[in-house]
Amino acid sequence: MLSLTCFGCRPGRSTVRLRPKSESEEQVPFLRSLKKSVKRYHLATARAAMTVALVAPLPLLASHSAVRAAASRIAAYRPIRVAGDDHINHPPQVAALRRGDWVKLICGASFEDAADVRNLSLVYTLAGVDCIDCAADASVVSAVNEGIDVAASIVPAVQRPWVMVSVNDDCRDLHFRKAEFDPEECPPNCSKPCEKVCPADAISLKRVMVGGEHAQSDHVCDELEGGVIMQRCYGCGRCLSVCPYDRIRAMSYLRDPATTAELLKRSDVDAIEIHTTGKGTDMFNTLWNSLGESVNNVKLVALDGRPMSGDIGRGATRETVSFAVDLTSIPDRPPGFYQLAGGTNLYTVDCLKKAGLFKARTLPGTITTEEIGSQEALIGGIAYGGYARKIVGRVLHKIPSQLGSVRIEDHPGYLLEALQEAFALVGPVKGYPALQK
Ligand code: SF4
Ligand code: SF4
Repeated sequence: MLSLTCFGCRPGRSTVRLRPKSESEEQVPFLRSLKKSVKRYHLATARAAMTVALVAPLPLLASHSAVRAAASRIAAYRPIRVAGDDHINHPPQVAALRRGDWVKLICGASFEDAADVRNLSLVYTLAGVDCIDCAADASVVSAVNEGIDVAASIVPAVQRPWVMVSVNDDCRDLHFRKAEFDPEECPPNCSKPCEKVCPADAISLKRVMVGGEHAQSDHVCDELEGGVIMQRCYGCGRCLSVCPYDRIRAMSYLRDPATTAELLKRSDVDAIEIHTTGKGTDMFNTLWNSLGESVNNVKLVALDGRPMSGDIGRGATRETVSFAVDLTSIPDRPPGFYQLAGGTNLYTVDCLKKAGLFKARTLPGTITTEEIGSQEALIGGIAYGGYARKIVGRVLHKIPSQLGSVRIEDHPGYLLEALQEAFALVGPVKGYPALQK
């Protein structure tokens, strides 16, 4: 059983542990090791110093040829990357963690727009991610798997990413909340900064006259209608702070452990990420015990903490890497693999390189290997969330959607454009040679 810690720039980031299926003799040591990891993780964060419905394969469109050519180059490159003992001894995802080029797409613990999740999963599967992290909701999990299946129907050699569901042990975790307000309480002439600041396009407001007609001018409208699109809101909180009239509330929630346990029994779910706040291990233990035997079905257990948005700018990733430098330097850091998560974006690889941590097995300035660094990279890889969704979302928004949900594979030109955006993010971590030119 293996483990991975993922973290960002603030106290309370995450750890991931990997486990083989059905090896009961390893369960006790694994659990002991996991709990030890949780305790150390909580200690580290307390210090705060740095610390488908399956779809039938689609007929391949002739116009998918450019997409197939681009993604096939990546798939063909994979056997070279996994050459050596790692290829024989470990699944490709674990080999990636050991090399330090693991990439995870974070759809968002609370983001439940199945159409977008499906398209994001399709694009990033073609781009070669190792894992896709999504809300612990059956329809969202099916959407992820549908996206993966469609990607595989376009490029059969593509690596199937692990599917990870995100849950919380404490409703105070900021990943698990939704914004809410009643537009009838808003002043009709409000300039709607909430709508403008939302990175998920989760707020939609229209000005209307009494009787429901759309107003021709801001000055003559009687009221606003619409509000928060719950499936799209992932609780970032940006709207809360910009509302000049303090009309928006945040609603926190706890994922139901019984529902999660059922999800973990599915053959198309590989991993779980537990968001734990660092306020003690009791709630973690309660959740873990509630999941029961279902955890035996997963290959990987991750721990995560407070959110940090990588789409807000370069500074976010600097803080994340700074936290990585601090965390990897402490001798009693939680065991397992580490993953950068919060605040990650296009600049993360460069920042890691400057810090001497990109695919490094030893700490900068040292010549001896440490226990965890002897065979494995100090940083197992990078998870991309808000930034990854933003760059592909820009392409998705260009697609005309007169007929309901958009299927990006029906628009090969846009699919290629989205794939190029995804390659630009995933490629520098994976070291795709064609993309380095
Ligand atoms: S919390 Fe964030 S995602 Fe949700 S509506 Fe507000 S700005 Fe949008
Ligand atoms: S900013 Fe506040 S008052 Fe204005 S539309 Fe948004 S929620 Fe309503």
